[in-house]
Amino acid sequence: MSGLELRNIVKNFGAVEVIRDVSLAVNDGEFIAFVGPSGCGKSTLLRLIAGLDKPTGGSIAIDGTDVTEIGAADRGLAMVFQSYALYPHMSVRENLAFGLENTKVPKAEIEARIADAARMLEIEPFLQRRPGQLSGGQRQRVAIGRAIVRRPDAFLLDEPLSNLDAELRVTMRAELAALHARLKATMIYVTHDQVEAMTLANRIVVLRSGRIEQIGTPLELYNKPANRFVAGFIGAPH
Ligand code: ADP
Ligand code: MG
Repeated sequence: MSGLELRNIVKNFGAVEVIRDVSLAVNDGEFIAFVGPSGCGKSTLLRLIAGLDKPTGGSIAIDGTDVTEIGAADRGLAMVFQSYALYPHMSVRENLAFGLENTKVPKAEIEARIADAARMLEIEPFLQRRPGQLSGGQRQRVAIGRAIVRRPDAFLLDEPLSNLDAELRVTMRAELAALHARLKATMIYVTHDQVEAMTLANRIVVLRSGRIEQIGTPLELYNKPANRFVAGFIGAPH
């Protein structure tokens, strides 16, 4: 993917404008974080990028192709949710394979991808277990694994670590950084945790009430916050 471009995205739920004229270009291979307080529209924006929801106005292009009318399955992206969204009645293996089984990917290739993801995420010992028999961190790894086996051009992650305890969050943060270095895929990462954004992302998009307040590198936001809101949110002196 040579990039993702959002042009003048608007999203209304009924009379409420939740995303207000958001334009943004994400470069191939970037680790970009959407940050902002609860309710500012982070998840909505991610769902629009994923194709799980349609914008009220504006357009979305991937690799130069307009995908605004293209469904989630055909966008080449994979989403990881805060709630893991694993199937409780399936084994870890089956959870990883699900979503690939009805595609053109050959069986042997599915097996190879599962083995590769399981090794990378160190979940090999748990492949036959059900999600209910795993810890939160292990479940989160499976959720990430399920995205990895799809070989997406970009990963969309919605607060993937927010259900984990503080210690595990720090461990998983490092693992996500390593994963990004290895896969070199674009990562769009939603978090309300500014420390997480500052340590993981090469660029941060600060949202407030559905609008972009500032886009910049962590250092730019820290050293030159556009306004008091950004300064307050990033924790810089102001
Ligand atoms: P965030 O992820 O930043 O916490 P969301 O994108 O979930 O914020 O929500 C942004 C706003 O849109 C909130 O006010 C929320 O209540 C509203 N919203 C989100 N999804 C829907 C929906 N399906 N129907 C109506 N309102 C929604
Ligand atoms: Mg959210």
